Amino acid sequence: DPQIYTFEGFGSSRYPNLMLRGAGELDNWRLQVYTRKWEGYEACRKALKMEPAAVTAEVKASDLRGRGGAGFRTGMKWGFMPKDTPERKVTRYLVCNGDEGEPGTFKDRAILEYNPHQLIEGMIIAGWAMQCRTGFIYLRGEFSWLIDKLEAALQEARDAGYLGKDILGTGWDYDILTYRGAGAYICGEETALLNSLEGRRGEPRVKPPFPASVGAFGQPTTVNNVETLAAVAPILRMGGAAYAELGTPGNTGTRIYGLSGHVKRPGLYELPLGLPMDFILNDLGGGSSTGRKIKAVIPGGSSAPVFDAKDFDCPMDFDTVKARGSMAGSGGMIVMDESTCMVQALLRLTHFYAHESCGQCTPCREGCNWMEMILHRIEHGQGRPADLDLLASLPPRINMRTLCPLGDAACGPVESFLQKFRPEFEYHIEHKSCMAGAKSILPGV
Ligand code: NAD
Ligand code: SF4
Repeated sequence: DPQIYTFEGFGSSRYPNLMLRGAGELDNWRLQVYTRKWEGYEACRKALKMEPAAVTAEVKASDLRGRGGAGFRTGMKWGFMPKDTPERKVTRYLVCNGDEGEPGTFKDRAILEYNPHQLIEGMIIAGWAMQCRTGFIYLRGEFSWLIDKLEAALQEARDAGYLGKDILGTGWDYDILTYRGAGAYICGEETALLNSLEGRRGEPRVKPPFPASVGAFGQPTTVNNVETLAAVAPILRMGGAAYAELGTPGNTGTRIYGLSGHVKRPGLYELPLGLPMDFILNDLGGGSSTGRKIKAVIPGGSSAPVFDAKDFDCPMDFDTVKARGSMAGSGGMIVMDESTCMVQALLRLTHFYAHESCGQCTPCREGCNWMEMILHRIEHGQGRPADLDLLASLPPRINMRTLCPLGDAACGPVESFLQKFRPEFEYHIEHKSCMAGAKSILPGV
């Protein structure tokens, strides 16, 4: 289980915990604790007295951006959902993406485990804002150990009148159902998720149409990440404008960073956006766990291009990380010290994408395998001098030529590792061994 750092010691007004409140406490998931200790469902009561459009306006005012990885503006996404017309009543759905599978990312599971009512409350508010008929929580297959607790929390919410028929006397009927995936990373892509939810093969669909037009069961659907939805109740409670004062303009609020790898205090950190990466790594994370220098950090889940030391001062917000050539993505920061073999690390990442490619698009299906094969032979001491140029020639043939972002995601690490750590790859080919002196971390290598 990940260690969770909540920072009361640092002064809760500076780093308020909005989503990890009470995380780590075993009974925190109960409705009674949520209402007694955390003003649970007060935001829901407030929202259900407001016009649905006013709730969306509040979320727009907060400038909340999606925490799944893309950073798309949540209020804007909700605003895409078609409204009823005098001629046509639309059936709309809300889907919570709980298929957290990005390597280095382990934040949503903490919300699901310790704060499910905050997610449920957020889904009720979102459901009201968009006048949805049903909400679905699509849970990663490997999270089977969370399902009983989540179901129990949903039942508590039903028993208390927050779900079901005529919620809080509004005349609005709405329920939330859970659905378990079966362990495919690609089902975290929203349209593959929708296919899987419908009982089809979990393959991405062509976009457009976006789910807001044609989503689950052919109906307008909004898909939001767990952490995004968990931020909704705090926004309604404190007001969108107050939430927007946390973080930096355009990158507001708090988010949960997952720190892993060669760092003294790995775990989850809920922090306002925009803090510098080296502050998170060193002041909060305690710096290198091995006494050796930190050589590289992947800033936002495995799909994000790697940073070397010259970018460790980067403010951790969506726009600045992007401007520096990477992605704040899912907030998973993977730390590597100078003994890490970059060939091996890249092979590990590339193997993941080659394995998880759904195979629909030729550039992704073939390209990921080719990248893995070339890296495999370099790692095994069979690399050829021409291999690096061959490897570098593949991402331009995959990028932007595929149906979903998995192809691009596989290319980011390859391009950035080669660009920043090329001498290590050349050394591997020439000496048939590792420049960093690393022992293999890969099974069978
Ligand atoms: P995207 O930018 O294509 O879309 C973002 C969201 O905005 C989607 O919900 C999309 O439907 C909506 N949208 C965008 N333009 C729209 C339009 N014109 N009209 C209506 N809706 C519109 O990104 P994506 O494919 O949803 O996500 C990619 C990200 O997911 C990557 O950054 C990656 O890091 C991340 N990811 C996260 C995990 C995880 O476990 N958290 C796993 C895999 C990937
Ligand atoms: Fe499937 Fe890869 Fe194409 Fe995505 S990019 S649809 S994972 S083959």
